[in-house]
Amino acid sequence: MCEGKAASHDEGMLIEFSMVLTRSADAVHNARMRSPSHWRSLALLLFLLVPLPVLAWNAAGHRLVASIAWDRLDEHSRSTISQLLRQHPDYARWIRRAGDDDPRRVAFIEASTWPDNIRKDNRFYNAGVEEATPTLPGFPDMERRRNWHYVNRPLEKTPRDHAVSGLLDQQLVALARTLASPGSTDGERSYALPWLIHLAGDAHQPLHTSIRLDADGKWDRFGDGMTVINPFNSFKSRQASSTLHAFWDDLPGPPWLRGDRLRSASQALAALYPPPPPSAPGQWIDESWQIARNDAYPPGTEHVPVLTAEFFAKAKAIAERRVAAAGYRLADLLREVFAGGKRPGP
Ligand SMILES: [Zn+2]
Repeated sequence: MCEGKAASHDEGMLIEFSMVLTRSADAVHNARMRSPSHWRSLALLLFLLVPLPVLAWNAAGHRLVASIAWDRLDEHSRSTISQLLRQHPDYARWIRRAGDDDPRRVAFIEASTWPDNIRKDNRFYNAGVEEATPTLPGFPDMERRRNWHYVNRPLEKTPRDHAVSGLLDQQLVALARTLASPGSTDGERSYALPWLIHLAGDAHQPLHTSIRLDADGKWDRFGDGMTVINPFNSFKSRQASSTLHAFWDDLPGPPWLRGDRLRSASQALAALYPPPPPSAPGQWIDESWQIARNDAYPPGTEHVPVLTAEFFAKAKAIAERRVAAAGYRLADLLREVFAGGKRPGP
């Protein structure tokens, strides 16, 4: 089984991070007495601690979506998907932990987190701020495409208009079209597939579709501008405070969820939540926006709200229902895309 290995790896990263926190606290404590080089070290540590926007369900959320979808795919779609994913440059990395599990299933599930993983991958670059990196075979370029993960529709009309940016809605349609088109190359389709798997999940995360003006009149960056205290953390027992966005990202489960535990969790969600009626990606985003407006923010005007048991339970149920819906809908979309479509070349 690979589960223990995966857990210990990720838990190791958490321990390492908490050591950085401890070291930085010590550095802050001692800094007044130190030399300029220590100041530089302190500045680096503080830079590492600045929270960066997360902008995705965590890995558990995306893997659960993919696991639910895979269990509902027909053999023709599975076979086409597997041939495309085998041509992706990161296929070997995805199946490294497969163990006795079906490598086709594992590759599909791991591909769901690839668009988030490339944020930290130095083969890729951020357009406008970094030099372009060498393009891998079959890829259009190595841009990280951070604006594909969201579409920021304001939650209320205000005198201060905010231009809508983010391409989540457009890319869901464009990627499905690339996968279905007989004119697309296998390289284009193996690039598009992990993105489509991932973005189906993002479209169901309420805070990927909205922004709100906060009490100070600033746009809240998808809930990243609000810190909340969550006394009900199930796997972050030492880190009860987070942004509201990260709170929602983490609701589906711990990011190291894989293997048999992932399969059991996805089957439990599918048993609990029936498939939603058929719908197009535009509706997934509209639903997320409605949830963001009605249920994603804690009530009250506290600057750093402490979440109540009632808010936590409702948010958790919403997140699980959205993850299940994303899984069902991803399966439907992929069936449609691959039904009678072009099969990959040899
Ligand atoms: Zn994302």
